[in-house]
Amino acid sequence: MKKRNRRLLRIFCLLFITIILLVIGILFVNDVFNRNQTKIEELYFEDITNKKEIGRLLSIDEKENNIYYKVEYPAIGDDLIDKEISNEVDNLINKNKKQYLNESDNLEYYYFVNYETYIGVNSLLSIVLNENFVSEDLKMVEDKAYTYIFDLTSSKKINKEDIFKGEYLDKLQSYVKNEELSEDFNFVIKNDQLILIDYEVSIPVMEIKDYLKIDLSNKKDYSSDNVEPVYKIVNKQYKLSDDTLLYNAPSIKGNVVGNIKKDEIVNVYSQSDKGWSVLLYNDKVSYLESRYLKEIDNIEVNGEVKVYAMMDVNIRKNASTDSEVLGVLKEGDSITKIGEVGTWTKVLYNGEEAYIASSCLSLVKINKREVKLNIPPQGDIDPDKPMVALTFDDGPNPDSTPMILDVLEKYNVRATFFDLGNLMLKYPDIVRREAALGEVGTHTYAHKDYNKLSVQEIGEDLRLSREAFKKILGYEPILMRPPYGNANATVRALADMPIINWDIDTLDWKYRNKNLILDEIDKYGNLDGHIILMHSIYTSTAEAVEILVPDLLDKGYQIVSVSELATYKGYTLETGTIYHNFK
Ligand code: ZN
Repeated sequence: MKKRNRRLLRIFCLLFITIILLVIGILFVNDVFNRNQTKIEELYFEDITNKKEIGRLLSIDEKENNIYYKVEYPAIGDDLIDKEISNEVDNLINKNKKQYLNESDNLEYYYFVNYETYIGVNSLLSIVLNENFVSEDLKMVEDKAYTYIFDLTSSKKINKEDIFKGEYLDKLQSYVKNEELSEDFNFVIKNDQLILIDYEVSIPVMEIKDYLKIDLSNKKDYSSDNVEPVYKIVNKQYKLSDDTLLYNAPSIKGNVVGNIKKDEIVNVYSQSDKGWSVLLYNDKVSYLESRYLKEIDNIEVNGEVKVYAMMDVNIRKNASTDSEVLGVLKEGDSITKIGEVGTWTKVLYNGEEAYIASSCLSLVKINKREVKLNIPPQGDIDPDKPMVALTFDDGPNPDSTPMILDVLEKYNVRATFFDLGNLMLKYPDIVRREAALGEVGTHTYAHKDYNKLSVQEIGEDLRLSREAFKKILGYEPILMRPPYGNANATVRALADMPIINWDIDTLDWKYRNKNLILDEIDKYGNLDGHIILMHSIYTSTAEAVEILVPDLLDKGYQIVSVSELATYKGYTLETGTIYHNFK
């Protein structure tokens, strides 16, 4: 069920991206557009990016008569494999063109392909092409996955029919009881697991290394011992600590395909726990020993940069928590930053290089102070009874937000809305009703990921949010929830508000189905003191709230705003601090 939903969600997200890309041609790029696009891309790439262990993205983006194509597929860096894949992509496109391309048909179709790549045992590569084909009226929704297995060392395609036959096919069939395994059953090889896909969930069904060793007897065995390597995606640049060789397989027994000199910078796609790194060299997948890689120092070029401690933090000799502690930087004190090494900031301490965990440092000085919260005077809350805070992000929305507000009004309960400044200006009446029936915090002006913005950009976005609040509500926001919950030390310092995140995620943006949203909340059991994350922009969420609110009241919960929850649970909130619940 969930798999289906995820796929449907992908279809919808892709559909929206396409529509939005078309709209851009005729409309001005406004803030609403920026926000929506970021959000949708975030959803779309959410689980896909984690499934691209190697390869470069290629894409086809075109419209032919009544069909839009947005096709993404990988270039692995191996001529033969890449040719095979691009032929497959052409075949898929042509097959659908034959069937649906029709000038007289005024119905439009959207054709999407995205991909996944996995490194498997003994340099086997799995590629998945996920195909979604939908009609404008959504009456036709086709959803298919195609999988391909290649041997990276010989560039040959391995037919699954050749691998899985006889007793192995029987064994495979036994895992999939309800469906007949046909020629187009789909699986990928990931590490040493065979994973069946295209069923309700992706399930690892078999350890395949032994079988592969028997059946692919002509295959060179590159593994240095019997334990198969586990690859992790890295996607990061490193500097070479010394001259080294590149191989066509993760073994010094492999063929040498090139060499890299000391201090050269390489982009590593993934790394195995057996000490090998995967990269593209002359557009070919190559391997080098990870021990030759070192972190790149990003020394700041523009002289001295001051950083401030968000809390008392250790100053260490090396960029590691195992390293010797040289001293402590006290909360609010500053130090000179000279570089960055991974998650560590390189600083000058007593004239020597030293390191501090970057998560504790801010580019601006934090001014931590207690915040006075806005609590309605009704005093109908019993601090000894359980209470829970419902929070709604990304609104207001003219369709779904009023539905949620109607529920709050009907049952005389409150909630917290984290609104976007640009939408507040568009729907001021809804915002005022939110404030009257609950409380409104800021979700920034344009839904940008603050962790990726400069100090100036964050400042400007915050200024716009404050202005929207003053204009519509007459006061500045007291609470903030940053998009994606992202607030590094600099963001927390600049926000100058308590950061209210959540500890219960309903995944409503993903499910778009009231029952699944309610199931998700059900999973958590006792909700006393928790903050529940939802989005006020989906009708499905509003429908869930219509059931959720009376249900929670029946169970004895008081449904309160975040400020009420914090206050009645005995918390005082301070600026620059992140809160997830008030238990
Ligand atoms: Zn959001």
